[in-house]
Amino acid sequence: MFVGSNSSRRFWYFGMVCLLAFSLAITGCTPSDQPSAQTDGKWQITATTGMVADIVARVGGDKVNVTHLMGPGVDPHLYKASQGDIKRIEQADLIFYSGLHLEGKMVDILEKIGKQKPVKAVTAGIPENMLLSNPASPQAFDPHVWFDVSLWMKAVEQARADLVAFDPANQSVYEANASKYLKELEELHQYAITQLATIPQEQRVLVTAHDAFGYFGRAYGVEVLGLQGISTASEYGLKDVQTLVDTLVSRKIKAVFIESSIPKQSIEAVVQGAAAKNHTVVIGGELFSDAMGAPGTPEGTYIGMVRHNVDTIVKALK
Ligand SMILES: [Zn+2]
Repeated sequence: MFVGSNSSRRFWYFGMVCLLAFSLAITGCTPSDQPSAQTDGKWQITATTGMVADIVARVGGDKVNVTHLMGPGVDPHLYKASQGDIKRIEQADLIFYSGLHLEGKMVDILEKIGKQKPVKAVTAGIPENMLLSNPASPQAFDPHVWFDVSLWMKAVEQARADLVAFDPANQSVYEANASKYLKELEELHQYAITQLATIPQEQRVLVTAHDAFGYFGRAYGVEVLGLQGISTASEYGLKDVQTLVDTLVSRKIKAVFIESSIPKQSIEAVVQGAAAKNHTVVIGGELFSDAMGAPGTPEGTYIGMVRHNVDTIVKALK
């Protein structure tokens, strides 16, 4: 055991205080206009859609600050990054996006930033044989994977792996957060299965403005008919409206749904077209498809958004 005299101990303390003051002075000299990693002790993460941000916020917990570019009602297929967005992307330590060409107009900027820092697609780990193809372009996949909760769980696992690789020191935190979230998502998946099964089989037909619900249909046994293709970037025509109207009339389908991120004129045209053929179709409610609801509302989270959709569909079709 070290036993020093009082004076040498005092000298040692003095030395330590000086060293501390010196290092504080150095830190104080770091240019503050350069947003460095972990300015507030948290990683700054920018996500594209709210659903992706929700994953990162849940898995990252108190180790991350997450912001996202596309708010409520925003259509990711058409979204172009503004100057402010580019700045937010450049300032982030890490960027997460959905992928599978959902953010079709952001490919260039994400690729460019990806040369400087990690830019990760949460859908990267989903095996191709679990993906649906995009009928409009057979080489491409349907990007709307979040509507099958069991597939979105794979996106959670991907984000967990990416966070652990980026910040291995907090591996146990990310793993604990992810397993808690995955448990909630497993319950949500079961909820959707049980609820949708209460709709009689012949009435289990979901008619919406664009084909966002393909994975939803496959996972939960619902037939899906959309007016527009997989991406909203392609315009629908009068012929598409007429085809859908004919289907509604011949199959006696009574409800159609509007989507939060798509103008509702398209689906209203279908309702009017059916009325002209003496078939009454009602709007069964608004579904959240490519964007979540407002922050602070239940639909402002992924879980709340899926529950809202399931409950709205069940109520209208049952
Ligand atoms: Zn879409």
